[in-house]
Amino acid sequence: MATPACDPTQVADAIVLGAGISGLVSASVLLQQGSRRVLVLDEYEHVGGNHIDRTKDGYTWDIGSLIFQDDSPLLTHFPEILPRYVPIEPAWARLNPQGLVTHYPFSIRDDVLAAGALECARMAGSAARGRLVQRQQRNARDFTEHLLGARFVQRSGLGHYMERLCGLPPEDIDLEFAQTRLQWLADQAGIFNLLRRVLRSRTGSPEPPSHNQQLARPREGYGYLYEPAVRSLAARGVEFALGTDLREVRRNGELFEVQTKGATLTARRLVSTIPLDRALDLCGLEVPGGPLPTVTLISLFFSFRGDRGFVPPILYNFSREGAWKRITAYSDWYGPADGREYFTAEVIGERVGDAVEAAERDFRRHCRANGLLIGDLRLEGSNVLTHAYPIYTRGSGERARESVRRLRAFGLESLGRQGGFQYQPTARASTVEAEQALQRAPEA
Ligand SMILES: Cc1cc2nc3c(=O)[nH]c(=O)nc-3n(C[C@H](O)[C@H](O)[C@H](O)COP(=O)(O)OP(=O)(O)OC[C@H]3O[C@@H](n4cnc5c(N)ncnc54)[C@H](O)[C@@H]3O)c2cc1C
Repeated sequence: MATPACDPTQVADAIVLGAGISGLVSASVLLQQGSRRVLVLDEYEHVGGNHIDRTKDGYTWDIGSLIFQDDSPLLTHFPEILPRYVPIEPAWARLNPQGLVTHYPFSIRDDVLAAGALECARMAGSAARGRLVQRQQRNARDFTEHLLGARFVQRSGLGHYMERLCGLPPEDIDLEFAQTRLQWLADQAGIFNLLRRVLRSRTGSPEPPSHNQQLARPREGYGYLYEPAVRSLAARGVEFALGTDLREVRRNGELFEVQTKGATLTARRLVSTIPLDRALDLCGLEVPGGPLPTVTLISLFFSFRGDRGFVPPILYNFSREGAWKRITAYSDWYGPADGREYFTAEVIGERVGDAVEAAERDFRRHCRANGLLIGDLRLEGSNVLTHAYPIYTRGSGERARESVRRLRAFGLESLGRQGGFQYQPTARASTVEAEQALQRAPEA
């Protein structure tokens, strides 16, 4: 996508670092707040940040499993992108520790009733103990065991999944992370929800339909999806400089100077959505306690012909073995290419030494052992993404907040998945967070 270069001779009202969802929404909010000239700079060559797609020979993959909704507040800022999405009906399954493909996130039938009367009684006892015994919760293990009981966490594979999600055992994952990232678990484990599930498993009735339309990006990719948003921002006074090498950020009285490879850009306000450590480094500030831990995500792009062994387009790995976290079959949404299905397998880098070859070996071995993807499975490409999302080891939440405070004292407003060191699972969450963060006035 061709974007105009920024004019360095004029002082801008604001500079935004990063053109991901948080950066695009920030630019839109700044315009609403009265800015007339906003510069958006990104070291990436594209807008959309870590919304990244790959295309080859008619196949098209994402680096994550990206699903959007037609009632997202992102569309209030950029209504012109709505017609470019593809409506989809996502469905999820999971591979449980017993090697069964079953309901996501839990199945009363397969996780509880199939365990037999004695184990059912043990799980009930452990769940009651979890709820009744008041013990101080310190980490993600305590959080889940309080909600569901230790035996159920083990049998359902939830503990294995959490370990895969974060690259850490649940006892090393901060309670704060569990409380925000696993809030859905608390909702699912509410007594009425559990009763409804038991009832559904007995009557065989399906999940109720959701009220909003679920969407995927267009087959043409994120560049095509976000192009109208860029056009609309540009028409309102936003200038983009993508693929820009950021060198330094300085304060000059009331102004901020951003030194890039070829120019010095000046603005009255500075918003950052790039990784916190990187922003601190650009400002010449110290990172408190060393670099913040983040997940490196390896995406393996496969094409396939044969019996895949699961029906829904998304399959989570809750089993004990295997470094892969999730499979997303994009051919279910965009149609097969040359008679072949295609999907991404997400693998947590830390479990395979951040190496694509080891990730592929581990994936193939684990799928074979569980009767998945039996047939002609071809690796077509891969992507390694550092800073995919933050890991909340104990204390890292506080270190992140201290980093944001230091940047704020410098005058820079840091927000978003990278800039706020927040998990932010959806574009909806990123939009709301950016809107709220920019309502708070910057330090003088
Ligand atoms: C695996 C995965 C799955 C996701 N699934 C969904 C989903 O189903 N639905 C949904 O709505 N959203 C999903 N998201 C999107 C995500 O949760 C947020 O909505 C959004 O991408 C956050 O935007 P951001 O601008 O804050 O940060 P990002 O897009 O992460 O990054 C902002 C900027 O930081 C800089 N940056 C980022 N990483 C690096 C790096 N490694 N090195 C240097 N600079 C970097 C770049 O300048 C980038 O533009 C997913 C994201 C990932 C990674």
